[in-house]
Amino acid sequence: MDQTQAFKKMLDDRSLETVLILPHNMPDGDTLGACIGLYHLITQYNKKGYIVLNDDIPSNLSFLFEGDLKCCKSDEVTNVNFDICIAVDAGETKLFEDRIALFKSGKHTVCIDHHKTNTRYAEINIIDVEASSTGEIIYLLTETFGGTLNKHSGEGLYAAIVTDTGSFRYSNTRPITFKICEKLVETGFDFNRLNVEIFQTKSYEKLLLLNKVFDTLKLYCDGKCAVVKLSKHLVDNLALAEYDTDGIVEFVRDIKGVEVVVFIRYLNDGAHKVSMRSKYNFDVSEVALLFNGGGHTKAAGFKSVDSIEEIEVKLVDAISKAL
Ligand code: 5GP
Ligand code: MN
Repeated sequence: MDQTQAFKKMLDDRSLETVLILPHNMPDGDTLGACIGLYHLITQYNKKGYIVLNDDIPSNLSFLFEGDLKCCKSDEVTNVNFDICIAVDAGETKLFEDRIALFKSGKHTVCIDHHKTNTRYAEINIIDVEASSTGEIIYLLTETFGGTLNKHSGEGLYAAIVTDTGSFRYSNTRPITFKICEKLVETGFDFNRLNVEIFQTKSYEKLLLLNKVFDTLKLYCDGKCAVVKLSKHLVDNLALAEYDTDGIVEFVRDIKGVEVVVFIRYLNDGAHKVSMRSKYNFDVSEVALLFNGGGHTKAAGFKSVDSIEEIEVKLVDAISKAL
């Protein structure tokens, strides 16, 4: 059976009542917004949904949870037996590694995603690599199933799409994306508020950090490859209350002549997280796969326990061979 129809059958099954909805770690606008849209969809099938996330929600996205719908932590749902567990916008289980056991504890598992490196780890895998975002997939499922939207799901799904398409600038934006957004904006959520919250509420700390990270910029491969870094040393020296690095890598990509950007960032657990972006045809997901990561053609990443210098050398080597 077609995966979408299999999912519909699962939703139609009245014996399945509780649904676990999992955003990926270090959540972004797509995973959170899509979870909100999905929560609203499963509610229409009289199911009880729980969005479970242990990570903090980035401050520019917290407005999405101002209403009654909240995320809960794993330890708040220990008494719930989940009938359906759905991972949202996660190409592999590593991306929700703190909640894998919870995901697997469900009677049924579903994965809804748009990454081309998706490992199809669930019983039902709804993967659409042409979709701009997972939010777009949730919209299309809602439409296919004859579901309805409200202001809150419209806001979540719009947030998902506008963030994953870089405000409709990236090539994952397709004609239907605009048609979907027309329907979402028509739900009547506060459009101005959404844009101010997501894009125009950057903290002073964030801009200070951006400035310091820019100081580390190095160009390789005749200016086609740019590398920026946030080392432990820099983290310790800055001693900021928050380390919001979202958007930095896209900013560097804007430099004329740069085709691929690498951002290597120290994480609290001692490992490094690598984010890569490209502009035209360079496939960063292929490079990410070499380092056991994944993603999209123009946005991919991985985690590594190597030192920041080692990662830089190995990556620049891999990129220069592929460029
Ligand atoms: P970001 O740089 O924004 O964290 O990630 C860019 C894209 O690559 C996202 O769509 C994300 O899901 C994917 N990605 C980042 N790290 C990993 C990873 O370790 N494994 C996989 N499969 N995908 C990743
Ligand atoms: Mn996404």
